[in-house]
Amino acid sequence: MAAATEQLFIAGAWRDAGATFEDMNPTTGEVWRQVADGGADEAREAVEAAGSAQPEWAALPADQRARVLIRAMSALEDQQDMLVEALVDEGGGWIGKGMFESGYVVGIAQAAAAAAQSATGEVLPSDSGKLSIVFREPVGVVSVISPWNFPLLLSMRAVAFALAVGNAVVLKPSEETPVAGGTHLARVFEAAGLPPGLLNVVTCSRARVAEVGEVLVGHPAVGAVSFTGSTAVGREIAALGGRHLKKVALELGGKDALIVLDDADLDRAVDAATFGSFMHAGQICMAVERILVDAGIAEEFTERFAAKAATLTVGDPRANVIGPVINARQAGKIRAHVDEAVAQGATVRAGGGSDGLFFEPTVLDTVTPDMAVWADETFGPVAPVIAVSGEDEAVKLANDSAYGLSAGIITGDEERGLSVARRLETGMAHVNDASVYDEPNAPFGGVKSSGLGRHGGKAAIDAFTTTRWITLERGGRHYPF
Ligand code: NAD
Repeated sequence: MAAATEQLFIAGAWRDAGATFEDMNPTTGEVWRQVADGGADEAREAVEAAGSAQPEWAALPADQRARVLIRAMSALEDQQDMLVEALVDEGGGWIGKGMFESGYVVGIAQAAAAAAQSATGEVLPSDSGKLSIVFREPVGVVSVISPWNFPLLLSMRAVAFALAVGNAVVLKPSEETPVAGGTHLARVFEAAGLPPGLLNVVTCSRARVAEVGEVLVGHPAVGAVSFTGSTAVGREIAALGGRHLKKVALELGGKDALIVLDDADLDRAVDAATFGSFMHAGQICMAVERILVDAGIAEEFTERFAAKAATLTVGDPRANVIGPVINARQAGKIRAHVDEAVAQGATVRAGGGSDGLFFEPTVLDTVTPDMAVWADETFGPVAPVIAVSGEDEAVKLANDSAYGLSAGIITGDEERGLSVARRLETGMAHVNDASVYDEPNAPFGGVKSSGLGRHGGKAAIDAFTTTRWITLERGGRHYPF
């Protein structure tokens, strides 16, 4: 049976783009959908539709915008089966990950609904007796460019908050997950009664992404860009945004550390390492990609961690925790990181094998910091371990990275954990947990090559609004002539 076709969603209408591209199921290697391959013209139409719809939406009382987001919560729940199917079949994610992701976005809608009524301004004391008011205004049109690994969640966290505070949105999902990260979200908001033009979805193949990106960043109606993806593409978006003087929020790659101190509860450490390294086959920006464990407990930890990793089964993600990685390019990179590390002296303590897109959860030790598997983002189920001589060395080595997204610290002493967390150069850190953690009301984001700006809660209000200072003169201002 031929794969069904997904269309673009512009100005509240579904339409073709004149060409399609293949959307693959990484588990079966078959085409899952044909998807409309939009270009610069369609992107322009989408931005213009958004620009036309936005003023009326912004003028609505906040409670009415909030109500659409509350209806989106119900629509997400009603459509959960459809969303999970796409997350598994198109994204290759374990079914448990699909259940988590499709549930988490309900919480995002809820937090965004709350944000609609929290986008407050200020009244300032004035040196001249003026009434000095700071209004908080939407930026206009927000372009959202999202990746494939948590496509629904990472699209939703930008779309929902941008809409809540009065913007219209053009969403460009990844070419790997155009349905789970794009067109299904349009269906959710259609069901929630979002007026036409406020959420537009432009799908396109990798071949057309640069021309679409050019419009989504450069079009004069675009007030802000939310980009989540690789550091390499993020730099291009930042450069483009700089050229057009656009407000850009960048959530990029990571190489997150899990630090296991000598007083750690080893059961907790092993569970956190296993979840953090292998959830979604390690394809998470805040995945545990470096483990620094105190030398005094390193052998016991590594042995138990490797034993637990070996219990995770690999195969069809409907029945196995470890599904396929997204594509051959990613598979090649992961293979190269493992092979190169082994050639340079790393020891495989668990896994190490692969078959096409399917990788065994792999634990490596006797790793050194010069290995690519330690320095570069792997984005696969590979956990390199280094033994360290105490917390100072752990902090030094953890900070010796181009990235700075999240971190985890496992310790029996909370105060010690907090003090180590405060010394880490990351946007986020979690004591007695893996680096993989998020809540919709918290400021999510990184430092260094992991990005600029924040998503979530109040930070999302800042990302998608601007301030306007307006004063009312009341006779206190005297002119010199
Ligand atoms: P990617 O950078 O290849 O693609 C991200 C998005 O950018 C996709 O929609 C892609 O089509 C688009 N894109 C690519 N080139 C473009 C261009 N020239 N103009 C406009 N858009 C363009 O990333 P990916 O492979 O989809 O995702 C994996 C990466 O994302 C990893 O590095 C991961 O760490 C990172 N990530 C970061 C976060 C975070 O919140 N920090 C979350 C998830 C993933």
